[in-house]
Amino acid sequence: MPIKVLSPDLAAKIAAGEVVERPASVIKELVENSIDAGASQITVEIKSGGVELLKVIDDGHGIPPEEVAVAFQRHATSKIDSQEQLDAIATMGFRGEALPSIAAVSRTVLTTRQPLEPGGFRMELLWGELVSSGSQGSPPGTTVEVFDLFGNLPARRKFLRSASAETSRIQELVSRYALVFPGIRFQLVVDGRTSFTSPGNGVPREALLAVYGPQAATGMLEVHSEDSASGYQVDGFASAPSLTRANRTYMTFFVNRRWVQSRMLSFAVEEAYTGLLQVRRYPLASLNISIPYEDVDVNAHPAKREVRFRDESRVFSTVQRAVRAVLVADSPVPSLASPSPDYAEPAASSFFPRSAFGGVRHGGGMSDFSGSAPADAAVSRQPAPPLKVVGQLKLTYIVAEGSEGMFLVDQHAAHERVLFDRICQKTSEQEPQSQPLLEPVSVELTPGQGDTLRTNLEALENYGFQLEPFGDGSYLLRAVPAIFGEGDPAKALLDVLDMTAFEGLVRQKEDVMAASIACHGAIRAGKSLTEPEMVALLEQLEATPNPHTCPHGRPTMVHFSSFHMEREFGRR
Ligand code: ADP
Ligand code: MG
Repeated sequence: MPIKVLSPDLAAKIAAGEVVERPASVIKELVENSIDAGASQITVEIKSGGVELLKVIDDGHGIPPEEVAVAFQRHATSKIDSQEQLDAIATMGFRGEALPSIAAVSRTVLTTRQPLEPGGFRMELLWGELVSSGSQGSPPGTTVEVFDLFGNLPARRKFLRSASAETSRIQELVSRYALVFPGIRFQLVVDGRTSFTSPGNGVPREALLAVYGPQAATGMLEVHSEDSASGYQVDGFASAPSLTRANRTYMTFFVNRRWVQSRMLSFAVEEAYTGLLQVRRYPLASLNISIPYEDVDVNAHPAKREVRFRDESRVFSTVQRAVRAVLVADSPVPSLASPSPDYAEPAASSFFPRSAFGGVRHGGGMSDFSGSAPADAAVSRQPAPPLKVVGQLKLTYIVAEGSEGMFLVDQHAAHERVLFDRICQKTSEQEPQSQPLLEPVSVELTPGQGDTLRTNLEALENYGFQLEPFGDGSYLLRAVPAIFGEGDPAKALLDVLDMTAFEGLVRQKEDVMAASIACHGAIRAGKSLTEPEMVALLEQLEATPNPHTCPHGRPTMVHFSSFHMEREFGRR
């Protein structure tokens, strides 16, 4: 075929493919237009997952009748008109592609009225061609109706998922916008039934309540931090460590209130939870990062889903620290008065600080972040409540009294936390605490364990192991970390190797190793403790920066509040 310029019709369909991938992308573009139009109320209506109808009604500033046709032309926008403005975009839209792209693949009807004008205007297009236009009475604002999406692109329509799957994407999208624009009242109507409304009263927590429901919303902590040097600001909510989900989809990010998808930002949040969550549990978060317009390039993706930051690692550490600060300040002792289901889960294989996982963390420039501040540096810490020992229960728990009621402390978890911190501290001070074995023990390793041992030999030695090759995949173990109790030293080494090998992330290996060493050294459940031992353990626990969780993320103590007890006994 000779080279030819594409017909406008074909070019429009191809361009539409980038912007309008599925029903939710139409809603995204239309809702963003309504936001740009200063709407205070946005109603979204869909039918049959959006294929039959997608409708967005706003009460924004409308479009002058003579400009409606222009709005449907490609690259027609009222939002920027110069290169300088492209470098500092404050509106959601700017590419001037949404309306023409949507119109190219549907029957589109736009009705609009400027609030101060007496009458409105209507324009209808089919597959991008004008069908009719003219004056039409309408309420102030703009309504866009999109019928029969992809009716002229059967191949694309086949790629859509079920109506309910497309519907849930739209629900998710609308609720995300409701979170970051609490001043706008959002309403979503699905097949004639209202499925979601946000109050639009400008109170972020009430928007949160509408989106997550009362139970989850109460477990969310408010994040607010400002860095005056960079001008970066982080606002929103992040879940307390007791509130988690099994995947990452509950983390939502906005940059200058534009919804973006960013692995880097999820990692920053996950990083903030280091040591606080169990394996494969993820926090909920909804955060808006405000940064100077010139520090972010929003023109990195046709659907504007991704952004580029001028200083990624700065964004990373700003977010990580903002969230970490809130978590550490809060660090609540789990209370029985408000049981948190997550703690009830069996923690069988959850031997690691949860951030030790996420093999995805390599590549993609993520290694740049390994130099960012240690997870809990430079944030204020809330000390554990001072506790008085009452006794031991089931040879497993220390019963203690504090100013706020009764505490049950898990002796193993508490000791693990104490040892973990001690190990980390000694290691950072470069003085491994080692105890020589009376008799060296020979340990046989599988090839895999041998590999792990060789690649981590230095770290193992830093933690107090002393090893010598003994031929044929065997090693002689001469010393173990000082904190190890009696236990079988060979087994301890093998466990530490297996745990370390299990995750592939170099940066976190130290944590994993320290946590497994702490676990091995810690007193077990079933061991009788004397009162001075219990007092000492609680004192040591109180002195740690994160007294409320063990290094694997399990709680070290549960709390029976005085209030709860009084209520149980009918005193209140
Ligand atoms: P962009 O948003 O990138 O400017 P669009 O194709 O989405 O491009 O919209 C084109 C233009 O139409 C916008 O710049 C805006 O002037 C106008 N417009 C679209 N939707 C609305 C709306 N809901 N209210 C007011 N004006 C609108
Ligand atoms: Mg737009």
